[in-house]
Amino acid sequence: TMPLLSIENLVVDFATDDGLVHAVDGVSLTVRTGEIVAVVGESGSGKSVTAMSILGLIRTPPGVIRDGRIVFRGEDLRAVTGERLREIRGGDVAMIFQDPMTALNPVMTVGQQVAEALRLHDRDLGKDAARTRVVELLRKVGVPDAETRYGQYPHEFSGGMRQRAMIAMAIANDPDLLIADEPTTALDVTIQAQVLDLLRTAQQETGAATILITHDLGVVAELADRVVVMYGGRVVEEAGVRPLFARPRHPYTAGLLASVPRADLDGELMSIPGSPPDMSDPPSGCAFHPRCPMARERCRTDRPELLELSGPSGEGEVRRSACHFADELADGRALYAVGEE
Ligand code: SF4
Ligand code: MG
Repeated sequence: TMPLLSIENLVVDFATDDGLVHAVDGVSLTVRTGEIVAVVGESGSGKSVTAMSILGLIRTPPGVIRDGRIVFRGEDLRAVTGERLREIRGGDVAMIFQDPMTALNPVMTVGQQVAEALRLHDRDLGKDAARTRVVELLRKVGVPDAETRYGQYPHEFSGGMRQRAMIAMAIANDPDLLIADEPTTALDVTIQAQVLDLLRTAQQETGAATILITHDLGVVAELADRVVVMYGGRVVEEAGVRPLFARPRHPYTAGLLASVPRADLDGELMSIPGSPPDMSDPPSGCAFHPRCPMARERCRTDRPELLELSGPSGEGEVRRSACHFADELADGRALYAVGEE
């Protein structure tokens, strides 16, 4: 069957002081109805830019979608503008941002904003009916005392409560696709867990397919069905969540997994040595080679393609890796020695 969303060979350039940067350099990914796909990578990997391209949120200039197709339920989103684009945004496709303060209007009450989101997609909805639905929505996302909260402004909400209000707004019109960009990154650890629970419940109730952008593999393990790992504007690995955690097939993924705090090592966190590539002057060959513990001569010159691998990949999943030596990677975590004396 046709995927709900398919992105094919997306290329997004940004004009910077250092010249033109390929922020996204040939990314393809698909999302099927109801599934949660995590897009993982360090900052600057192109994951947010990929997500923003879907809803036409790349500001031009400095950004421009240079190439590729973004097809949502058979409709080419790159060709969609005006009224139709407004219909899709917040209707069929809704977005949750890391910092709700940037998405919420500071001079409108939270209730009015959620009501406006509803009425944008249902013009016949009267004021009172909208208010009733908003209070229901706020209750549903765990905002206590929803009647009172309706009339409060965003600054009167805590960070966690604001994120709940954002989620209420996002699910208001029963979207088919939710895009959540670092939805819990700005929150304290205890609130993070609550918001993750809420996202899971919202996803189960609405059945919305979800693209979850995150750098946090703990979040991925909690929520995702499938994972797309990005590095330097490209997809470097793709797999079902279990096979990916069980046996990463790209050294970068292995490094991310080794960075997760481990109870057996007193929570010690090992991060990947080196830093993400300078995208205005990316490394030759495999962009990961300056940091890769497995790099060989060939890696400096030949750029690896994202190829399908054999072996377990999760139910009905395809498994792909962009590493010349993916088949040799048996125990990826061992590549990054932790706790050595
Ligand atoms: Fe490392 Fe080479 Fe594989 Fe790139 S292609 S991830 S440098 S081994
Ligand atoms: Mg980002």
